Amino acid sequence: MPRTDIEQISTLLPAWVESSKKQCIHGKTASYIPELSKAPIEALGIHLIDSNGHSISAGDSELAFTMQSISKVFTLILALMDNGEEVVFDKVGMEPTGDNFNSMLKLELVQPGIPFNPLINAGAIAISSLIAGKDANEKSQRVLRFIQLLSNNSSLSCDLDVYRSESATANLNRSMAYFLKDNGVLQGQVEDVLDVYFRHCSISVTCADLAQMALVLAHNGTNPLTGDKLIPRRYVQIAKTFMTTCGMYNASGEFAIQVGLPAKSGVAGGILTMVPGRYGIGLIGPSLNRKGNSIAGVNLLQTMSQQFDWSLF
Ligand code: GLN
Repeated sequence: MPRTDIEQISTLLPAWVESSKKQCIHGKTASYIPELSKAPIEALGIHLIDSNGHSISAGDSELAFTMQSISKVFTLILALMDNGEEVVFDKVGMEPTGDNFNSMLKLELVQPGIPFNPLINAGAIAISSLIAGKDANEKSQRVLRFIQLLSNNSSLSCDLDVYRSESATANLNRSMAYFLKDNGVLQGQVEDVLDVYFRHCSISVTCADLAQMALVLAHNGTNPLTGDKLIPRRYVQIAKTFMTTCGMYNASGEFAIQVGLPAKSGVAGGILTMVPGRYGIGLIGPSLNRKGNSIAGVNLLQTMSQQFDWSLF
């Protein structure tokens, strides 16, 4: 089935969502951020939008959830726009780790002690300290406004229950941040940097918002619906490359083989992915596999990519 159009997808999608939903019982919601454990474990929803603005959704696509690690793609882009490549890649590397997203193992083992990439927690915390702004509040507002712009949704906001839940329990991220400060990676006060990080992880979205953001990345930084150039092409290229090599944590290699699209997941169960030049896709499925990716969501994307021959490789 080489050529796909939106009608074809909309005919097939509901049955595929129902079938992938059966995977939910094999996973778990994230519990290390207590508020996330309340998400409906059996949910699966998806929204897809094409370059002409035609969209389809299936399953529980109206569910609101926090971006979590998906926000790291956009803080990376904003930090690049604020500082340029040289400054950013002085503080974070370009390589996958093969470790869990919240591991700090290599920070001590591998010199010069900078995070391996901007999509693991340590790397995203370092990136949070590079966002321009006079204080934590202004930096957080700039990140939120950037995400509102890309999603074309000015009503997006931070889920304060999730934010407080993460901030109150983030011992591991906190220890990582203090370690980074000691290594000279973080600028400013550690608690301020963490506050920016927790707030962008807690931005609440739906699948349609993620799909809209993904559509801009799928079109190299231009919103195809308005013609507005929102991100320099080079920074989208960097972001999409990291999404391919590190976006699905230490399951990115497997995802590249099974699905073959740039993607980023978050521990609330969201996945943002795209078919370059064609579709933006947002998905939610809070039941996670052992690597922290939506178990039913990965299954659904695998079906879609294989049926429509979407892999880039
Ligand atoms: N806020 C989460 C954390 O720092 C994000 C992690 C994730 O989505 N993988 O642990």
